[in-house]
Formats: sequence, C-alpha cells, structure tokens
Amino acid sequence: MNDIDHRVLGNKLDLFHQQEEGAGMVFWHPRGWVLYRVLEEYVRVRMRRAGFREIRTPQLLARSLWEKSGHWEKFGAAMYSLDDAQEERALCLKPMSCPCHVQVFNQRVRSYRELPVRYSEFGACHRDEPSGSLEGLKRTRAFVQDDAHVFCAHSHIEAEVGRFCSLLRAMYADLGFPDFKVALATRPSLRAGSDATWDRAEDALAKAARAAGLEFDVRAGEGAFYGPKLEFHLTDSRARSWQCGTIQLDFVLPERLDAEFVNERNERERPVLIHHAVLGSMERFIAMLLEHHEGGLPVWLAPEQVAIATISDANLAYAEELMQALDDACIRALLDSRPERLEKKIVDAREKQVPILVVLGSRDERDRTISIRLRDGRQSTLAFADGVEYLRLAALPPPVASKV
Ligand SMILES: [Zn+2]
Repeated sequence: MNDIDHRVLGNKLDLFHQQEEGAGMVFWHPRGWVLYRVLEEYVRVRMRRAGFREIRTPQLLARSLWEKSGHWEKFGAAMYSLDDAQEERALCLKPMSCPCHVQVFNQRVRSYRELPVRYSEFGACHRDEPSGSLEGLKRTRAFVQDDAHVFCAHSHIEAEVGRFCSLLRAMYADLGFPDFKVALATRPSLRAGSDATWDRAEDALAKAARAAGLEFDVRAGEGAFYGPKLEFHLTDSRARSWQCGTIQLDFVLPERLDAEFVNERNERERPVLIHHAVLGSMERFIAMLLEHHEGGLPVWLAPEQVAIATISDANLAYAEELMQALDDACIRALLDSRPERLEKKIVDAREKQVPILVVLGSRDERDRTISIRLRDGRQSTLAFADGVEYLRLAALPPPVASKV
C-alpha cells in the first residue's frame, strides 16, 4: 500500500479502521465520522433543494418481499439471511432500498397530479461480497448509498433525467470533480421485461441524456437486470476513473410490486421508477476524496478546520475565548495548549492535515488580533472579530443556495 492509499491515510489521520471480526465493515473514529457527517449533510441539503424528500426504511425485511421484487433470484447469493424463529420466516438484510421506497409510495392511492414523487434515503445496505474483493472503503460489505427514487409518468422521464444531470454536475463540481465521463449501459443477457419494454427504456434514457447535453459511450449488455442506466465516471488527481453516480430507468419493479397511480382518464397506470445515486456509496466516495486530495481535504470537509496553537500558557484564556467564538460560528476547531514548542504544534497540525492554523501569542492578546496561516503558506493578522468572520467564510460548505 502506498502512502496515498486511503487505508494508510485513514490510519495516519485517525479516521477509521477495519478488523477481522467485522470484515468489510467500518469502525469510524471521531475525526472520520465528522467527515462522513459533513458529506452526508451536504448531500442532504442538495437533495432537498432538488425536490427530494428524505425517508428512512428498514434494514431487515421478510425474504418474501425480495422474492416478489426479483432481488432474491438475482442477488440472493450476496444477501445475508437469517431465520426469524419467532415468526417462522426467513429475513434478509437489504442489499438496496428500492423495494422499500415502493412500499412507501404504495401506502395510498396516488393521483397523476402528485407525480413525480421523489424520495431519497441514506440507505444502509449489506452485501456478502467475497472476502478477496474487499478493499478498505472501496469495497465493503456494509455501506450507505445516497439513494433516491422517482416515481413518475413516461412524460416526465426527460425532465427528471435532466434534473438529475444538473444536480450531479453541480455536486461533482463542489466536491472537486468538474469533469466526468458518461456511459449508457444497455440490456444484459439475464434480464426481466420484454424486448419492447427495453427498447422503450433505452430510447428514453438516450434521448433524455442528449437533451441534458451529455455525450456518452454505449456499453452494450451492462445494464441492470430491470432496466438500462447511465453511469457517471469521475477522474481523480491520478487520472484514475471511479464509477460513482448512476441513473436507471425501471419498468419492471413497479409491475412486480404493484405500484400504480390514477391517470387523467381515471384509469390505473404503472409509474416509471427512476433509481439514482450521485455519490454511489458514501464509504467509497470518501475513499476517493481521500486519495484524490492525498488526505489534504478542502477546508469545508476537513474534520478540524482550524488548529489554534498557543505560544505559551500565558495566552490560554485568550485562546479559549477564540475557541468559543469559533464554535459559536460553527467552525470546527481544536486547541493545542500542550506545553510543547510552537514548531512542534505546527508540525502536528500539518500532519493531521488541519488546513488553517491560528497562532496566538502575547502580542495578539494585547492587540486583540489573531494570526492566521493557510495551507498554501499565506499568512495574515486580523482583528479578533474580523478574523473569526474570515474563518467562518473559509469554512463554509459550497454555496448550495444555487438552483439545481
Ligand atoms: Zn433503486
């Protein structure tokens, strides 16, 4: 493993660990969990602003649901099962959340006027991946998808795919990946649904992608068993490609799970189901972010955004006052008041990849200033309140107020 491997960085930066008793699972440490939660909250805000409503669905469900949905037949080997002795039936840990979202949609009669219905979920999934394929956060047995489903009419497909493509473009740019490649994956040999249904689904997706201004390669035979998909591949700082986002059309699952709405003619009609994810797996995306940035995350994602180093104990009260002000301004900071030399504190903060350093000495306290050092070497001394405001702006996540 080289030193930009996310597993090495995860250990060095004290973000997470894995161990044999939980192969393919992740123990998030405090610093890593901050990173995870910041990323999650960013996605949450983006999804909400794009018109999705967040839901939460169970992880453990009766196998009969997975048989009905078709997942048992296709994914059964990768699904964790257990017997519920009390109810005498088999249960499975969900490998994906799609059937659960259909259950929420099906809870009442839907009118065409309600469509599109958009749900998002940070879906906690389990898949029994072969032990040889496990690779840190890149391939795990327990992972969280930034999952979302749209239930809509055929006439909505183009607009919904377009909406997703704008969302995805904005999010990738915010996360430091302005360029991505797109592939259209078409019908696999093992599939559900008639050829006519597949013709219609592939045409609709290609047309919607073109309308959204995307150029794509066709990957014949690589679609999901229930429908074709667009795959979004990001290129990282080492020119490696990572498949992250997907959008998939599905005419099969609504049929299998009896999703329907009442159309303009007062008839029952099947909605189209669109599955999508922007990041794919939270864990895998964090692996990519760590390797892409070689551990030096952008300020808004850094577990601690500011490290305060005191020159001597004499300035501790002033440093604590600054800590409080940063906390009030929602800036994640740590205070290094150890009886160490300043140089040592600076080296330690850099090793932890804390992007902004504030050094406080007696002169700062006397003048009520703070001295700020950025990762690129820039330094400035600002009045206390101006300094806090400067740091607040530097620490903000990307502007999510922009329309997507
Ligand atoms: Zn899905």
